[in-house]
Amino acid sequence: MFVDSHCHINFPEFAGKVTEVLAKMRENEVSHALCVGVNFPEFPQVRALAEQHSNIYASVGVHPDYEEEGEVAVEELLTRAKHDKVIAIGETGLDYYRLKGDLAWQKRRFRNHIQAARKCGKPLIIHMREAAADTLKILAEEGASETGGVMHCFTGNWETAQAAMALGFYISFSGIVTFKNATSLREIAVKVPLERMLIETDSPYLAPVPHRGKTNQPAFVRHVAEEIARLRNIPLEEVGQTTTQNFFKLFKLRTQII
Ligand SMILES: [Zn+2]
Ligand SMILES: [Zn+2]
Repeated sequence: MFVDSHCHINFPEFAGKVTEVLAKMRENEVSHALCVGVNFPEFPQVRALAEQHSNIYASVGVHPDYEEEGEVAVEELLTRAKHDKVIAIGETGLDYYRLKGDLAWQKRRFRNHIQAARKCGKPLIIHMREAAADTLKILAEEGASETGGVMHCFTGNWETAQAAMALGFYISFSGIVTFKNATSLREIAVKVPLERMLIETDSPYLAPVPHRGKTNQPAFVRHVAEEIARLRNIPLEEVGQTTTQNFFKLFKLRTQII
């Protein structure tokens, strides 16, 4: 049994296809998925998916790439987080790959998300691209270890992974781990203790081998688990069971039966 800890099934790629996506999940023993919010205008769709389907959860946040969203107040996050199926704050973080220049607004927005997470007691979903030092610094300064969370779609180095784990964060691996050129990431996927690991698709992006180039979907998280099992030379069931338990523990979910 697998859980996709990070997907965007509210995106236009999935319009009218959610029933199909859920059926494919069942076929591949993917029991749950967390649909991650990236901005406020689309949040009602994310929440609606979680309300309509017992095995879909939601998060609320404004992605660091959405500059046009402007200031994101702590209160605005808290109002939207006040919902049983909204289990996390994010995705939030820093992205120095997509955006350049003065990114003071991105850091302010990130700090507000951490403050909101601490206020409502829900874990953080962190997006970090080419910004490891500043991300870790802000997480530490804002006391993010109080709620912990997940470094989603991790592509950093081993030192960054260790520092994030020391702050109480889980490391989540996506389909990138199956990509031909991802040698150093595969090494990290062997070193991270299974007890600190989550798996995800980040669908519709980053379809794993053997689906590269196609639209990704939560069912394909199985391929991420298969690759990790192969790399660590352990049974697939062990990767599935442990990462699923980690998901339920981190997001403080009582039941995993659907
Ligand atoms: Zn992201
Ligand atoms: Zn994402």
